[in-house]
Amino acid sequence: MHPAIPKLLQLQERDQRIRSLQKDLKDIPNLQSRAKTQLAGDQAAVEAANLAMKEIEVKIKSIELDIQTRQTSIKRLQDQQFETRKNDEFTALGYEIKRYQADVAKLEDGELEQMEALEGAKAKLKVAQAKLAETQTRVNEELKALEERAAGVTQRLAGLNAERQEMAAPIDEDTLDLYSRIFTKKGDAAIVPMTNAQCGGCHMKVVVGVIQSLKQSETLTQCESCGRILYMEG
Ligand SMILES: [Zn+2]
Repeated sequence: MHPAIPKLLQLQERDQRIRSLQKDLKDIPNLQSRAKTQLAGDQAAVEAANLAMKEIEVKIKSIELDIQTRQTSIKRLQDQQFETRKNDEFTALGYEIKRYQADVAKLEDGELEQMEALEGAKAKLKVAQAKLAETQTRVNEELKALEERAAGVTQRLAGLNAERQEMAAPIDEDTLDLYSRIFTKKGDAAIVPMTNAQCGGCHMKVVVGVIQSLKQSETLTQCESCGRILYMEG
């Protein structure tokens, strides 16, 4: 076995862990935004319940205004009735007053109905708000856990990178360069075992010349198909 192989394997093991942790770290913002989207439905429900309540409040205000207008009219008609000396005018005004009073009674019934509806809407809003608060608590916990995970991974990465530096130091520059180029390009491994005359990276059959070169172990041997560095196990 070429003397650089054990050192490269050790380095590769670190690099693979570093790569996997970097991927984890990169995923965290996505997980955070996914956690936040859980709130959207509950927030929409609160907004809808709030809007429904406001609409009823507006209706009640409008009814109250209508009642007020009619009561002002009633008062005016009663004043007129008090001042008149004509019998027929007195009677006519009386009819008009009664008509307005009937209107007021009808409006008051309507107002009562809306008041009941308002109670229902308020209860619905409370339920929606409680559900939102519950989801918010859960999402906050998830976000906190993700933040802690990010901090943990960052710390772990710093440790692994320091270890990697130390492991890379004794490896000669050309070998390290070759290894690094392959590792970056391949995404999985730069150095793979040859088993049953097959490359452990691309699984292509390894030619006789390559097997001979591996046995001699004078230089690092690369797979002719994928370019990964090969080694013989055992
Ligand atoms: Zn290969």
